[in-house]
Amino acid sequence: MGGARWFAPGLAAVVLTGLACGGGGAGAPPPAAVTAPAIPAVAAVPLPAAASESELLDSVFRVDVERAEVVFDIFPSERRVQAQAAITFRMRPGQTRPILHLEAAQAPRLALRLNGEELDPARAADVRLLAFAGSGEVSVELQRDLAGAVSHRLEASYPLTMADADGRFYADVNDIEGRGNETLFPALNTPHELAHHVLTYRVHAAEPYVAVGSGGLSARTAGDVQEWVLDTGRPVAAYTVMFHLAPARTHALSARRIGDVDVRVLAPSGGVTADEAFAILEPWLAELDRELGPFPMPRGLDVVLTQGGGGMEYYGATTTSLRALRHEVFHMYFACSTIARTYRDSWWDEAITMWYELSVDPAWAPIAEDYRSDIVSGRSAVAVGFDRRAYDQGARIIHALAQEAGGRARMVAFLRDLHARRQFDPMTTWDLADEFEAWSGADVRARLERWLYQPAPAGASASEPSPADWLHHVDLRLPRP
Ligand SMILES: [Zn+2]
Repeated sequence: MGGARWFAPGLAAVVLTGLACGGGGAGAPPPAAVTAPAIPAVAAVPLPAAASESELLDSVFRVDVERAEVVFDIFPSERRVQAQAAITFRMRPGQTRPILHLEAAQAPRLALRLNGEELDPARAADVRLLAFAGSGEVSVELQRDLAGAVSHRLEASYPLTMADADGRFYADVNDIEGRGNETLFPALNTPHELAHHVLTYRVHAAEPYVAVGSGGLSARTAGDVQEWVLDTGRPVAAYTVMFHLAPARTHALSARRIGDVDVRVLAPSGGVTADEAFAILEPWLAELDRELGPFPMPRGLDVVLTQGGGGMEYYGATTTSLRALRHEVFHMYFACSTIARTYRDSWWDEAITMWYELSVDPAWAPIAEDYRSDIVSGRSAVAVGFDRRAYDQGARIIHALAQEAGGRARMVAFLRDLHARRQFDPMTTWDLADEFEAWSGADVRARLERWLYQPAPAGASASEPSPADWLHHVDLRLPRP
């Protein structure tokens, strides 16, 4: 083992393990040289004062993204991806200094150009990284003041590590933790920010690949590069964009039309099969069409099958086990087309999805009248992730509303009407309450205030294990012979 070498903080654990049997020791001299580029510091920033939630969202998210175009050049043999992004956006009302989320901003080798001007990510006069109090997200603030009412363009070039040992490259969003696609491209990680996404994947590999994604991918040949284009066809939240590319050697792609819905299933070889997924989807898509209306995504549904665990829903797509398949497909209606305004509001799309299946059981109980929680009020409107009590207590809150409405069938009729009228029109919890009251004539505000906006009494457990815990975990391990 050579002399002491010092790495960026993320590698410290590896270095220490390597040094366990030699070097170092008490009184070791300080590092003589730093070989890795410095990671830019993240400034902690208090939330801006705001007169309303809308004003707060505008002052924290700053921009309205219009279009996100990203080209990913994928080199599986080198386990790396080179990304080129072009983001067009406008400033929100009263805002001048743009912000985007991009995990690669905290790593070296990022190049940025704003409206044609090169910005140096390492220079404080060009770029500042900041984290708003209670947000859980690092924002990249570009140090230029931009005009309102016109479009601006940010170009970004950066490398990504292909972490997967099996040659796959995929979106891996976790909405409970609040991890969105800012791990892969510049975005605003909040449900109400909708943008048209056009993502191009160029796989530089001799072996054939297969791919699925939101909106259905179109393949094209470009010399010896395998190329696919994902076009969401409409503005959607960045964290609802899914894609999954994998070697054809280990995956099979199957397609079937079910009713009016084109379904594509990507199944790892040796695991659960597309036929098993189709067998679940045939009655389920028919039921959802009958109960809630036509399937919301015009280009159908793309499914990546996993061998166990739960799933994650995306716009017209899901990465899921067979067990969670129905749950994730229900989310096409609530979460991926009827959408929450903020992460903390997204308890209701989870609660409605759980409620639909659980409420078939006549013995299943609604929430107690005196239940109290801070499922919504316990988080900032700019925070990422949502309260996992949505799955159980949240679903029981929806059940109480259903009883108020006159039963399960009446509640389903309300949801059908709501979905028909308010697709891609982000709703807060109180927007949903207003809709429910207008439709049912019931007055539920005081109860919702108690159930969602008041801390539980001292001694009450706010973190019991949820019976739906398995749903949270997407297990992307391939089947092993
Ligand atoms: Zn869910």
